Amino acid sequence: MTGMMFSSTIAHCLPQSAMSLSYSRNNRIPIPISSFSFRRRRGNSQNNATNTIICCSTVSTSNSAVNYQNTNTATVGIDGAEVLDCVIVGGGISGLGIAQALSTKYSSRSPNFIVTEAKDRVGGNITTVEADGYIWEEGPNSFQPSDAVLTMAVDSGLKDELVFGDPNAPRFVLWNGKLRPVPSKPTDLPFFDLMSFPGKIRAALGALGLRPSPPAHEESVEDFVRRNLGDEVFERLIEPFCSGVYAGDPSKLSMKAAFGKVWILEQKGGSIIGGTLKTIQERKNTPKPPRDPRLPNPKGQTVGSFRKGLTMLPTAISERLGSKVKLSWTLSSIVKLPNGEYNLTYETPDGLVSVRTRSVVMTVPSHIASSLLHPLSDVAAESLAKFYYPPVAAVSLSYPNEAIRSECLVDGKLQGFGQLHPRSQGVETLGSIYSSSLFPGRAPPGRTLILSYIGGSTNPSILHKASNLSETTVSYGSNPEL
Ligand SMILES: Cc1cc2nc3c(=O)[nH]c(=O)nc-3n(C[C@H](O)[C@H](O)[C@H](O)COP(=O)(O)OP(=O)(O)OC[C@H]3O[C@@H](n4cnc5c(N)ncnc54)[C@H](O)[C@@H]3O)c2cc1C
Repeated sequence: MTGMMFSSTIAHCLPQSAMSLSYSRNNRIPIPISSFSFRRRRGNSQNNATNTIICCSTVSTSNSAVNYQNTNTATVGIDGAEVLDCVIVGGGISGLGIAQALSTKYSSRSPNFIVTEAKDRVGGNITTVEADGYIWEEGPNSFQPSDAVLTMAVDSGLKDELVFGDPNAPRFVLWNGKLRPVPSKPTDLPFFDLMSFPGKIRAALGALGLRPSPPAHEESVEDFVRRNLGDEVFERLIEPFCSGVYAGDPSKLSMKAAFGKVWILEQKGGSIIGGTLKTIQERKNTPKPPRDPRLPNPKGQTVGSFRKGLTMLPTAISERLGSKVKLSWTLSSIVKLPNGEYNLTYETPDGLVSVRTRSVVMTVPSHIASSLLHPLSDVAAESLAKFYYPPVAAVSLSYPNEAIRSECLVDGKLQGFGQLHPRSQGVETLGSIYSSSLFPGRAPPGRTLILSYIGGSTNPSILHKASNLSETTVSYGSNPEL
């Protein structure tokens, strides 16, 4: 692309809110190398919108009534229950996903629960905006269509609203001034021009096991990839992937935590290829349980969303849960009672409200969980406080189609999924998603909508630039190819 200008038409078409900073409370991002292990929900190894830290999920078996009275607060009985089975704190996708599972998969146990959310809307990070013929995302852009996420979508009644990206759409990496497609299938590997011939040979030998043995300590993504697959795979594929997708620093991300499915291959089979063969064999020997026939079958390696954006999912789940979802309820304290139950105090529009429950599921950002849990466990609080959330700005810009280089257009549309920029290439933008090519209905006819992410753990200064963000901040420098 060349000559991409943020014209006054675009400013009019996309209100200022399209250029918003999401101070990335992104559960996919903050994975520090640490021996302390939190329970993380893993429906899928990566890009999983439901990935979360369940900070506290304790169930006491005690049913005895508690004589607890706080004179300053109203103690509510919900649905006639004096003590709830569970309170889910946080109405982002994690909290709502758990709530929906309780009301579907575990409905036979009739759990009595509520979901409490500090804001006046559900969704947390998920922020879709629709205006002037555009639909754009200010937080996450899409999800990996794992069966877990598809089940959530189907259970919430959104099966017919699901949209999937074209699995054949190329993904590009900027290298030496040129956008180069990333191999999308094994047969592309010998031919793609993102890596040199010696780089490919090094990667192949390493994948076969001709490389230094794993160290005794937990490795970072950078150390693991350089050791197993060589410098080129790291610098040209994995580093831009980590920056663009995790907004993370691969020298600090834990390989085991961030790419567990690849990490385990070496453990299992002595090398990445050895582990892959072993995994294939294991899968053959252990047939998969039958798949839920209600689930759609997305083709190939793709990503999903909903016709009107990601926000449809939390909204639909919340509507189904009805009065179980409490908006504008900010948890301010948790007290553990002598019988093992918890007393939660909330600031609500109706004043302080106190709720008693047998279990609490925390899905709030870890720094908030840390201060809430401090009175209960110093150790948990200190560990939770260590999680780093890099700041990320999500900037959506619209261009007239004529501003796009004609060779990049197919049937009048910018061809591809998007592009990633290795930090070494001198482009501040981490990567861009061709939103209007990826999913239908994202921009009016004749316009191309591009979502770019800037910042991340290698560029935290973005936090101080928030008010000065402009089209030049996300420009692609002097690269003639972009
Ligand atoms: C810019 C950006 C891009 C991303 N891109 C993708 C992507 O493309 N694909 C993908 O899969 N993931 C992506 N992610 C990650 C994804 O958005 C998160 O993993 C996911 O949204 C986390 O959901 P959550 O429910 O765990 O947390 P959150 O969304 O943070 O929800 C937590 C909720 O808790 C509430 N809360 C906080 N304090 C309290 C309190 N005291 N009392 C009650 N409630 C409270 C908050 O208001 C919030 O609603 C992205 C994240 C960001 C920031």
